[in-house]
Amino acid sequence: MKLLLHTCCAPCSVYCIKSLREENIEPTLYWYNPNIHPYAEYKARRDCLVDYAKQKDVKLILEDAYGLDEFCKNVIDKITTRCQEYCYPKRLRQAFEYAKQNGYDTISTTLLYSIYQKHDFIAELMDKYAEEYDIEFLYRDFRKGWQEGQDEARAAGLYMQKYCGCVFSEEESGIGREIGRKMKKQGISPTNANVRKIIEECKVDGIIVPGIVKGAVNEAFGEEIID
Ligand code: SF4
Repeated sequence: MKLLLHTCCAPCSVYCIKSLREENIEPTLYWYNPNIHPYAEYKARRDCLVDYAKQKDVKLILEDAYGLDEFCKNVIDKITTRCQEYCYPKRLRQAFEYAKQNGYDTISTTLLYSIYQKHDFIAELMDKYAEEYDIEFLYRDFRKGWQEGQDEARAAGLYMQKYCGCVFSEEESGIGREIGRKMKKQGISPTNANVRKIIEECKVDGIIVPGIVKGAVNEAFGEEIID
């Protein structure tokens, strides 16, 4: 098997590489993530993966493309559906293109590791492209190794990002963390899922309006959590 593993970042690759090697499968990592902004963040994640690949002695192909302009132009009318309509297809199709042109017979992605990604959508998209490109999709539910991978990544001192990648996810994550901190101060322990759900439900035309989020959080928890 010649496996190309689309790789979103070093921390997400830890468990994937480890579990694949336990199956005697040696992946080639493929970096193509023009969805990561701003450039300092893109560089931090890319460089961390380069170092980690060397450390683990795993082959890495770098498709070095920072794509803020193109990304924004393509998602401006679909901010709420940007992941499914642009971001996943853009990255994963490119991975299939590379695999096809370079003789890989099997493909997978570290996006299947994250508990925050749209797992079922990604798996279905990979299935669709696998048929189109006539390349086998190696499905693994890497999420079962989530905690193990996170613990190992921290122990290895890898750069741990705080948001998915695009500027829109940075905003969601930043507001979510701020709400979380304020709730904790009030002695309430919010789960990420709760906060994310509230933020998601408070978007107006795909845009987060902090005042609406504040009202929704206060209403959800029955007190003045956020002033
Ligand atoms: S939230 Fe993540 S998957 Fe969705 S568009 Fe932004 S970077 Fe891509």
